[in-house]
Amino acid sequence: MSRSRCCIVYRCRRYIGTGAKNGKPMNILNYKGLKKSEPLCRHTSWRIGGPAEYFFQPENNQELKSFLKKLNGEKNITVIGQGSNLLVRDGGLDDVVIALKNKGEIKLINHHTIYADALINCAKFARFASSKNLYGAEFLMGIPGSIGGALAMNAGSFGCEIWQLVKKLKMINDLGQTRWANKDDFDVSYRNVKLKQQEWFLGAEFILEKEQKIKIKELLEIRKKNQPIGSLSCGSVFKNPPNNFAAKLLDECNMKGVSIGGACISDKHANFIINKNNAKAQDVENLISLMREQVYSKFKIKLELEVKIIGKKC
Ligand SMILES: Cc1cc2nc3c(=O)[nH]c(=O)nc-3n(C[C@H](O)[C@H](O)[C@H](O)COP(=O)(O)OP(=O)(O)OC[C@H]3O[C@@H](n4cnc5c(N)ncnc54)[C@H](O)[C@@H]3O)c2cc1C
Repeated sequence: MSRSRCCIVYRCRRYIGTGAKNGKPMNILNYKGLKKSEPLCRHTSWRIGGPAEYFFQPENNQELKSFLKKLNGEKNITVIGQGSNLLVRDGGLDDVVIALKNKGEIKLINHHTIYADALINCAKFARFASSKNLYGAEFLMGIPGSIGGALAMNAGSFGCEIWQLVKKLKMINDLGQTRWANKDDFDVSYRNVKLKQQEWFLGAEFILEKEQKIKIKELLEIRKKNQPIGSLSCGSVFKNPPNNFAAKLLDECNMKGVSIGGACISDKHANFIINKNNAKAQDVENLISLMREQVYSKFKIKLELEVKIIGKKC
């Protein structure tokens, strides 16, 4: 091989797999804590998902800011929380996946306001609030996600939703710049929040009440009775259609116990898919299609996904 040809091969090799938007190597390749080809099944409650080309889990908001500044928008970013509402396809993602799930900061701002980082998990938030004799967040106790994920999903249960508690939000963009945003800047509805720009939730202030209406223990008992707690799932797969319940419709289609590959519909709750036996994302997607078809053919109702599906098929 001639010297010049050798040189071309070398240059190509350097750029292969660096995956930057402009084809140049990224600034962050040697960043401490950055992992390459991280299997995302390690970061989802379904324990399903192909690899992220790059994966980073900051210890705190400061580390996230520094990382984003260094990355400088050079690569597509996917932010996840605890992965409890995510189906990552088997082919994984070519992005930098940033998982916001760690210790984070939670503090009392005044007699009825709490600030929490997006990193904080929902159960910790509920416990912290009740330890300060503040109430209204008890429903978060059984939601196995982060505050960031709960904000992104407008997570809720037992007639409560997290955005009912929000006062203001701290946002971060892909350059690591932060700003405070008002609640009214967002278009929020049932399990749906529209973000207008390329930014993510970094934290939020929440207003709570002094009066306790429901007890955490009672809510957890109801969950235990009705849901397959302890199985690998993502909670409800579909949103409830207006004036109806997805689980009831699926139950009436006799879907409980139906399985495809390693994925199986729970015997306890027809809107939960369980990873029973090393399910692939494709098994889950096939089961989702079947559930939709059955409900549509019997009731002419189109079920809308609550679970977010990301990544490439194999
Ligand atoms: C057993 C079980 C029970 C459940 N029960 C409920 C329930 O009662 N009610 C309910 O609403 N949900 C429930 N869920 C679903 C899930 O826990 C919630 O949707 C939760 O809020 C998701 O949080 P997460 O951190 O896991 O987000 P992920 O699953 O990691 O991400 C969900 C979405 O949020 C985005 N996202 C995550 N963090 C951020 C951020 N900081 N900024 C911007 N976007 C972000 C992701 O990109 C993705 O689109 C349940 C799940 C399980 C497994």
